[in-house]
Amino acid sequence: MEFEKVRLLMVEKQLMGRDITDPRVLEAMRNVPRHLFVPPAHRDMAYDDMAMGIGEGQTISQPYMVARMTEMLELTGSEKVLEIGTGSGYQSAVLAALAREVYTVERIEELSLRAQRAIESSGIKDVNFLVGDGTGGWPEEAPFDSILVTAATPEIPPPLLEQLTEGGILVAPVGPQSTQQLVKVTRLEDGFRREFGIFCVFVPLIGAHGFDE
Ligand code: SAH
Repeated sequence: MEFEKVRLLMVEKQLMGRDITDPRVLEAMRNVPRHLFVPPAHRDMAYDDMAMGIGEGQTISQPYMVARMTEMLELTGSEKVLEIGTGSGYQSAVLAALAREVYTVERIEELSLRAQRAIESSGIKDVNFLVGDGTGGWPEEAPFDSILVTAATPEIPPPLLEQLTEGGILVAPVGPQSTQQLVKVTRLEDGFRREFGIFCVFVPLIGAHGFDE
């Protein structure tokens, strides 16, 4: 109960108090129990206005960043979504609340397994997990209506653009490891349209079409 109160405050102050306006995104973030996706020792900080360590040198993104990126995807409920960088599974859970089904890829097995347990214990369905290099996407399940990359990438991996449906939207933090900018790519009939969002700092996307190990 206490967690719910803090969660509603998080939505009001950190999301609505800034510039998040999509009512469906706000509702999803009022409902998903973020405290189940952070290390048990740090549950009391789960709704703080910051990213947090989740082990293996990786992080769960700040609530605002999760909301911002999710809003850019313009989900309506019918989408098949691909996420690259499962991490804690929190972003996957938010996506699952807003889309038809979620496919999420993580390169570190231990994190994927932990995320699977957290998703299960939250009672969230329609999330499919894969361990491997997500810079190649998930060819067997392509195409996707929405693709979200949650790790910093020097450039958008070409396989991800190929796996996007026409009219589909991809969002990724693009740039060097020091800072990136959110990029929204819409696939048009005859190419891709790029729009630029806020600056951010993510852990690196490591793989064939990302940074070197
Ligand atoms: N969406 C996550 C954020 C995780 S941080 C959350 O809500 O918690 C980014 C994650 O991307 C890390 O877990 C990292 O291990 C993973 N990652 C890095 N390179 C990857 C790759 N090539 N394929 C899949 N996952 C990758």
